[in-house]
Amino acid sequence: ATPMSIMTATGRGAQAGVLIKNAEALERFEKIDTLIVDKTGTLTEGKPRLTAVLPEAGHEEVDVLRLAATLEKGSEHPLAEAIVAGTQDRGVALGSASDFEAVTGKGVKGVVDGKRVALGNMKLLADLGMQATELAEKANARRDDGETVMFVILEDSIAGLVSVADPVKESAPAALKALHGLGFTIIMATGDNERTAKAVAARLGIDEIRADVLPEDKARIIRELQQQGRKVAMAGDGVNDAPALAQADVGIAMGTGADVAIESAGITLVKGNLDGIVRARRLARATMRNIR
Ligand code: ADP
Ligand code: MG
Repeated sequence: ATPMSIMTATGRGAQAGVLIKNAEALERFEKIDTLIVDKTGTLTEGKPRLTAVLPEAGHEEVDVLRLAATLEKGSEHPLAEAIVAGTQDRGVALGSASDFEAVTGKGVKGVVDGKRVALGNMKLLADLGMQATELAEKANARRDDGETVMFVILEDSIAGLVSVADPVKESAPAALKALHGLGFTIIMATGDNERTAKAVAARLGIDEIRADVLPEDKARIIRELQQQGRKVAMAGDGVNDAPALAQADVGIAMGTGADVAIESAGITLVKGNLDGIVRARRLARATMRNIR
């Protein structure tokens, strides 16, 4: 493309909140056939809210909340913020935590009021050599509503579950429909549970899901698709997404996300508005058409 046509395209993009880093990003974006999208914070608002606390027999709701929130005080994960805020809203006082440890893609561990406590997903449960109880049924009903369920583990048994909801972005349904119309294959990649991922994907007409993936898996999934000859863009917002954004032919970061994600991306959607992906594609097409 001529420098002039690229300047026009990037200028138009910028006005609409779509920051295109350079000519290369624009040129590459025109050839993309596959779009990988992160779920939390990319398809969803990324502002989860605590919706339910389900104690295991012999435990009280307030105790489950107190253990969960006291531990999550040490975490910066959006799920942690939701649990802490929801607990404070319910007027439950926090205890004292020590030996905090974040387990990437799985949850958190530590000591609360002198007892070993862990909080996280099925992978964390498996790491601790534990199995889900009858509560799993209730957990599945929540997941089918698109919620994220986490187990609260006290010493060697499950004390209960906490569940959070993170609504889909207003811009997501129309943007994904338009992207399908433009011929993209859209694949959701998420560290969240498969059931939750399916529920969210179904609302958005996404046909492929890679759930329960660890951060390093996202970059690997992209590499494999590239080896099959696909041209892959990745949209994400988190620190966890940075390697995948860098691996993709074009990385698309949410301006609302982590700085390292933005630095790794060729395109930034200033307000995280997914319509920006459609706009970027149209700008790329128009620019390339001008010069052929
Ligand atoms: P993503 O942003 O793709 O959903 P993450 O890798 O950040 O994925 O997290 C994957 C899963 O690990 C979460 O859905 C949750 O079950 C668990 N998890 C991660 N961090 C925490 C945390 N601080 N508290 C509870 N669960 C967590
Ligand atoms: Mg995310």
